[in-house]
Amino acid sequence: MADRPDYKQTMNLPETDFPMRANLAAREPGFVERWDEMDIYRLSLEANADGPVFILHDGPPYANGHIHMGTALNKVFKDLVVKYKTMRGFFSPYVPGWDCHGQPIEHQVEKNLGPAKMKETSRAQIRRLCREYALSFVKIQSDEFQRLGVRGDFKDPYLTLNHAYEAGNVRIFKAMYDKGLIYKGAKPIHWCVRCHTALAEAEIEYSDEVSDSIYVRFEFTSRPEPWEDRPEPVSVLIWTTTPWTLPANVAVTLSERADYVGVLVDGQVMVMAEALVEQVAAAAGWTDYEVLPPRVKGAALAGLTYHQPVHDNVMGVIITGDHVELTTGSGAVHTAPGHGEDDYLVGQKFNLPMPMPVDDDGRFDVGGGPFAGLSVHEANPVIIDWLRERGTLIAAGKILHSYPHCWRCKRPVIFRATEQWFVSMDRAAEGVRPLRDAAMEAIGQVEWIPGWSVNRMASMVGDRPDWCISRQRAWGVPIPVFSCVKCGETVATPQTFDAVIELFESEGADAWFTKSPSEYLPAGTACPRCGGTDLKPEDDILDVWFESGVSHTSVLEVRPELRRPADLYLEGSDQHRGWFQSSLLTSVGAYGEAPYRAVLTCGFVVDGDGRKMSKSLGNTLSPIDIAGTSGADIVRLWVASSDYSQDVSVSREILDRTSEAYRRIRNTFRFLLSNLYDFDVADAVAVEEMVELDRYAMVRLADLVREVTAAYDEWRFHAVYRHIYEYCGADLSSFYLDVLKDRLYADGANSHERRSAQTVLAAILGAMVRLVAPILTFTSEEIWLAVPEALRDGVPSVQLSGWPSMTTDPIAADLRSAYEAVLEVRDVVTKALEDARNAGVIGKSQEASVAITASTDVIESLQARPDLADLFIVGEVSLSSEAGVTQVSIARAAGEKCPRCWNIRTDIGSNAAHPEVCARCAKVLER
Ligand SMILES: [Zn+2]
Ligand SMILES: [Zn+2]
Ligand SMILES: [Zn+2]
Repeated sequence: MADRPDYKQTMNLPETDFPMRANLAAREPGFVERWDEMDIYRLSLEANADGPVFILHDGPPYANGHIHMGTALNKVFKDLVVKYKTMRGFFSPYVPGWDCHGQPIEHQVEKNLGPAKMKETSRAQIRRLCREYALSFVKIQSDEFQRLGVRGDFKDPYLTLNHAYEAGNVRIFKAMYDKGLIYKGAKPIHWCVRCHTALAEAEIEYSDEVSDSIYVRFEFTSRPEPWEDRPEPVSVLIWTTTPWTLPANVAVTLSERADYVGVLVDGQVMVMAEALVEQVAAAAGWTDYEVLPPRVKGAALAGLTYHQPVHDNVMGVIITGDHVELTTGSGAVHTAPGHGEDDYLVGQKFNLPMPMPVDDDGRFDVGGGPFAGLSVHEANPVIIDWLRERGTLIAAGKILHSYPHCWRCKRPVIFRATEQWFVSMDRAAEGVRPLRDAAMEAIGQVEWIPGWSVNRMASMVGDRPDWCISRQRAWGVPIPVFSCVKCGETVATPQTFDAVIELFESEGADAWFTKSPSEYLPAGTACPRCGGTDLKPEDDILDVWFESGVSHTSVLEVRPELRRPADLYLEGSDQHRGWFQSSLLTSVGAYGEAPYRAVLTCGFVVDGDGRKMSKSLGNTLSPIDIAGTSGADIVRLWVASSDYSQDVSVSREILDRTSEAYRRIRNTFRFLLSNLYDFDVADAVAVEEMVELDRYAMVRLADLVREVTAAYDEWRFHAVYRHIYEYCGADLSSFYLDVLKDRLYADGANSHERRSAQTVLAAILGAMVRLVAPILTFTSEEIWLAVPEALRDGVPSVQLSGWPSMTTDPIAADLRSAYEAVLEVRDVVTKALEDARNAGVIGKSQEASVAITASTDVIESLQARPDLADLFIVGEVSLSSEAGVTQVSIARAAGEKCPRCWNIRTDIGSNAAHPEVCARCAKVLER
């Protein structure tokens, strides 16, 4: 045995420096640095400077806190889009943005200052602190996004606090104001007493709250006709959960078609919906009551008047409305137009007054009558006692119901009418199309992905009320109008807007708070009503949604590398009511068209059990932590593998599975690389001259490239992932590469057979590394640098290497059907080999002699294949045709094991020069 030659030296064993262990967490930061040094973003634009343009416009995340799984998902999706488009030859700039204004930052700054210090801090100083705070998180998030491999103009991102950006708000405001789409009006809005601001619907959270539940009778000013003959006083009975709104009561709304009756109890007649009498009786604890005739429709009572429940000598009126429900209460709805959306609408319809006795602090002014000076929350029990003393309280209890809360301070909000600026959905200047109509039409012209999301967007815009764009805060862009100090008239002309645009462009919105209007408005600017020249800048700032919404102007219009409309907006589904909508309304309002051609919506990130991620549930994961342990490519692969048309799950377990899939893909690349160390382009074999199996492998590769490209084009990244993953498994690892090993390792290094195989391996490597490059941005670069120089063509990064294109083999269809038959039989053979191995008939599959019985056409197809035994990795194969299912029997192959290639061969010793080995190996050794 000692003299046996070391055959290992004569084999072409795999060889590569590309490590099996990825060690991504340690390796990736080096690539971030490398890309930064080579300025990959600029290179990617230069490479396609003359290519078609594709603009993905980034929705700005809020510059507060570290990134989370949701932000990571969003940014990685965008990176997949941009990198794919770049590799396809598109000029695809990506300018990341940040939303830097708004309440959460101001809130945090206030918290840091504390209430005492806050009082002595000027608005300009607060704005400076807010700016510093925002910029610090822009830096943090920028680093975090780049750590995830996201490529973009991080050296020059867009920030909503930049001067040019701020000026864009005024341009849009001006255009919309000119068209009569913006107005000032009083309207009930959600108001947070603690935060001192109006809140948008998006800033409201609903949660359970215990409230008072009271029944109160309002006595008619004169006995209504149906109960004319009754001796007792007659009242209408209302139910409310907000006693503090009673001072603002002006009407009681009944259902037009419902039946109402008078109920006699304790010497009082009380009018209520017949359907609710029993419920009211139970709530009030009536044991002895009588339902009096007649029964009348609500419509018959409309126009009657009653004594306002709080203010003496004031009358309220009975009206009818569609919002009256007959499930709770009394069917007679207390109506205070300043305190509720339905009340406001019905008040508009009946032209009711809208008293507002509650001030910004949530306290009653003199309009609160006996309750003046109390806060609305203090007032509730006081009002209830007061009503009881007056004898008008019929029942009082508590109710648990869903109530709106402020998203910041989590306190219950109140509904309260104040002067606000609005974008009108339905009114416009003469000759201008109302915004709702124009926006609905624009929605129809946009491509919505997934398709159903068009319905969501259309119904949200179709149903939405006017957009309240005023916020009573400091940290934002002011509403760019003035008011006359003398008469209060609004002063807003093209000239004042232009002066403000110029001011913001040169000095930023801060100047609004530090300069006097006379310093920047054109000389002679005066009030159109009274001619007064003393003008006061508006105190309110714009809703941040308005601000981020105008990025189509402040970013797409302003930056030379971008354009409006963008090709794609891509955000989470909450943006149908957020950024997608505010962008649409401001763009349609100013330009009459949508700011985007297509909108892609992705679901929310939830945990493995489908629950929302939250700190309180303890189920959050940090993408940066994952990058630091498993690697950013694992995060990216998870993103790509997720079906974003629904909510996207993530958990440690899911990420472990992702890591496993990653290892399969990585090992495939490693195999490819390790068999190309001695391959040069000059060694390549033309397709027509390839070994048949190799030619088939080229057909399969072309299939993969086509499928993956189609999936990318439809932004179905999870399909991209699935195609690649399955290709690595079913096509390569369990078939093609497995079969190839003998040829690669044991055939002559420079033999046609081995070069044929290597040509295919190089083609697979070149195509696959590009196909995965948008997703596995780090690993693909690592692979790229490990690819033999000659195959890289001097391209410094895979991101600049273009997209694979494959020609169609004229005999592709024949090869596909031939090898489909082989693979079907191979499955049966594999199973039989396993059984034979378990039964001890054979050890390795190479020791097997395989007898296959199958239908004639299958046998004919198999017979036509050269090297059938190689395809099944067995010693020998015999075929016989017989109708029926394919059957396989296994025996031990005749012959001995070749000590070089370990195949069982009967031709060992046939070559006298190398008597120990099989004929093939002897031939190799001869060279
Ligand atoms: Zn609040
Ligand atoms: Zn005036
Ligand atoms: Zn051999």
